[in-house]
Amino acid sequence: MNTNNADQLKKNTWNVVKVVPENHDTHSLYLEGSDEKFARRKAGQFASLSIMSPDGCSDPHPFSIAGAPEDPVLRLTIKKAGKFTSAIPDLKTGTPVKCMGPIGLFCKDIDNKPKIVMMAGGVGVTPFLSVLRHFRNIKAGNIVTLFWVNKTMEDVFATDEIQEMTRDLTLRVVYCLSRADDVEGYYRQEYPGVFYEKGRLSGQILKRHGATKEASFYLCGPPPMMESALAEVGRLNVDQSAVEKESFTWLGKG
Ligand SMILES: Cc1cc2nc3c(=O)[nH]c(=O)nc-3n(C[C@H](O)[C@H](O)[C@H](O)COP(=O)(O)OP(=O)(O)OC[C@H]3O[C@@H](n4cnc5c(N)ncnc54)[C@H](O)[C@@H]3O)c2cc1C
Repeated sequence: MNTNNADQLKKNTWNVVKVVPENHDTHSLYLEGSDEKFARRKAGQFASLSIMSPDGCSDPHPFSIAGAPEDPVLRLTIKKAGKFTSAIPDLKTGTPVKCMGPIGLFCKDIDNKPKIVMMAGGVGVTPFLSVLRHFRNIKAGNIVTLFWVNKTMEDVFATDEIQEMTRDLTLRVVYCLSRADDVEGYYRQEYPGVFYEKGRLSGQILKRHGATKEASFYLCGPPPMMESALAEVGRLNVDQSAVEKESFTWLGKG
């Protein structure tokens, strides 16, 4: 191996700092490394992660960077799906991983958008968490509404942090719970910017919380949620091609 390749391999090698549970099936993985490209990352970008072992390196898997771009460590928030993601909770401090990136253009101009509608399905909230954490750091004044679709409140995470953000930022958060029987009990007077809706994201819910076609729309999640949300956005006469999208589709190396 020549010196350049060895240097590059060293830069791509990161170490696990810690793994922190977020809820019943989702963990945040914190990594430290020295690749200066990541210091220039933008909120909303993703990384390609492989786990290294004495037998070699696993296939790379993409994950959005959920932490703010200003954070010195890299924070990825990962939901268990198959073999790779199920191994994340057992990673020990100091385990070497290969991390490539940052990759992607999702949310690239979001700092300049005065009115923003974010629509997330499940763990598809991660690029938006990165943007909101970034906005909090820079004390941004953008008007943001986050619609976050999940089955129940068991499936969400970072709720304490998000409710505090509704105080720090011009932020309204709407939890859309497709399998909740009742949502009234979730309301807390101290956080008037946090709302709960029964059912999936609909045109009515979007309108009720002030989403209009003048806003910049961003959508991220699994493909069925994205299809349905796009159709609902169409009811607001928003040009669907103007919606910025990131799909969490992962078909493996094949
Ligand atoms: C740009 C991008 C960003 C992403 N960011 C994130 C992120 O921030 N956080 C996150 O959690 N995920 C994210 N993902 C998705 C993530 O990459 C995949 O969930 C992960 O790579 C899947 O790896 P795996 O080996 O665990 O699952 P795989 O084994 O590859 O399984 C993939 C899918 O197939 C399904 N599956 C697996 N086995 C079976 C089976 N036997 N029968 C039926 N279905 C099955 C799983 O439920 C899963 O949905 C992102 C994807 C992309 C493209």
